[in-house]
Amino acid sequence: MIGDMQNWTPNVAGIIEHAKKVHPKTEIISRLVSGEIHRSNYEEVCIRSRKLASVLIKDGYKEGDVLATLALNTYRHLEMYYGISGMGAITHTLNFRLHPEQAVYIINHAEDKIIFVETPFIPILEAIQDQIPNVEKFIVLCEENELPETSLKNAVSYEEYIKDGDENYTWPTLKDDAACGLCYTSGTTGNPKGVLYSHKSNVIHAQAALTAMTISPDDSILMVVPLFHVLAWGIPYFGPMLGLKLVMPGMQMEGEPLYELIEKEDITLAFGVPTIWMGLLAYCRENNKILSSVKNTIIGGSALSLATLQEFDEVHDVNVIHAWGMTEMSPMGTTNIPTPEMENMSKEEKYAVQLKQGRPIYGVELKVVDDAGNELPHDGESQGHLLVRGPWILQKYFKSDKDAVDSNGWFDTGDISVLDEDGYMTIKDRAKDVIKSGGEWISSIDLENAAFGHPEVAEACVVGIPHPKWDERPMLFIVTNSGEPIEKQSIIDFLSDKVAKWWLPDEIIFLKELPHGATGKLQKFELREEYNNHYMEK
Ligand code: ADP
Repeated sequence: MIGDMQNWTPNVAGIIEHAKKVHPKTEIISRLVSGEIHRSNYEEVCIRSRKLASVLIKDGYKEGDVLATLALNTYRHLEMYYGISGMGAITHTLNFRLHPEQAVYIINHAEDKIIFVETPFIPILEAIQDQIPNVEKFIVLCEENELPETSLKNAVSYEEYIKDGDENYTWPTLKDDAACGLCYTSGTTGNPKGVLYSHKSNVIHAQAALTAMTISPDDSILMVVPLFHVLAWGIPYFGPMLGLKLVMPGMQMEGEPLYELIEKEDITLAFGVPTIWMGLLAYCRENNKILSSVKNTIIGGSALSLATLQEFDEVHDVNVIHAWGMTEMSPMGTTNIPTPEMENMSKEEKYAVQLKQGRPIYGVELKVVDDAGNELPHDGESQGHLLVRGPWILQKYFKSDKDAVDSNGWFDTGDISVLDEDGYMTIKDRAKDVIKSGGEWISSIDLENAAFGHPEVAEACVVGIPHPKWDERPMLFIVTNSGEPIEKQSIIDFLSDKVAKWWLPDEIIFLKELPHGATGKLQKFELREEYNNHYMEK
């Protein structure tokens, strides 16, 4: 027997319509490319999304077409999230830090028909225009009178394009499981792979995410996580669901402009990756500034370090919530929200819990298995491959004809983790970064975080390098605050009471900067390749 309730085929546009009705005047604030601050609200974003959708249809675009954005976090990008997807097309977000070859691959693989482009990124597309013949039109995100000289085919300004759109456009009812958005993984090995989200998975993910973070309706959110990567962690959907004030920094992600925006807009909750916060914290430290309005920050994308956690807590009185997820998971998997038990813990005990990646959001199932696929106990020690399953986790990659999950629906995240008896998950490494030394595992993440606590260390990266006796030994790469090398022994001494003796790196190398990929993650393979023979040659 089936239930008697109404059928529900969601369209994400329903979210912005809800925000228009219930929170029309709640502000959407963006820093534009010019540096100027622009103020909009949910009502305006909704109406302009309707206009965009109606113009796209009039222009011949239809359900299932893939339309791309090469854009920053601003109100226009939010309008495209709704305008494109809401009329049934697919919003494909492109990352402006992609290598041109990868951008060409991705645009062609996705068969993008339009690219909406921010003015500073026009040269990126002009350079590859001849290699992306499917793209029919480029819509430049600017006012009519701001359209720069460009060789881009059929270039038109966004404001001119939507000018005569229909403010009263009504959204279509879409098919169950209709595609909504497309995002490619960064593809550190092989070609990038597309993850095609559905309206349903995005709506359910956003609702679930709201249950797994300390968010209140009067929060004012700093959205540093980019709209071009993994749906900005769902904020563009759960923000309007709850009527949250959204503040978007556009191009300016350095410490000083972020600090100014936070203070001016009374930010209470900030979402970002550790590298962005390192810049902000360094700016505050060097200029004696305190984050006066921020209550919580949600940090994910890479591991949170004790030094960052401590500085947020002790200097700025900001509560840190660690979160973990990935492109294939829409992206939220676990969060580490405060529990009543934490209130009775010592600072050290509380920090130890907060550094874990957190507990699964309802809807996400986790398990850790050994190399043979046997499930490992939740004992906080047994580490293995982390598998996930759930309604906002992919079944297969875009255009692939085979599933990316096993016959029971489990997706291998590529992360090596432990689960404990309280349900917390801790990431030890990515499987490809694991260091195996003398038959035992060394966590490069734990070692990096320990080194990052050294007062002279600005950034640390640990890589396993082949070794004639031990299989692999850790090598530590450091960027110092001053950019100059310091005494290696001072690092070793600092690490000595923080990690096991056999974890201590055999070699420390000082670099001016570390290699980062398009989403800001460390590109360890580059260092591994360069130093591959280091211990073998000795
Ligand atoms: P990519 O496109 O590089 O896969 P994702 O943003 O999807 O980019 O990256 C997901 C991966 O990032 C995870 O599998 C995990 O290894 C890492 N990651 C994300 N959040 C955390 C975290 N809080 N701690 C440690 N690693 C994390």
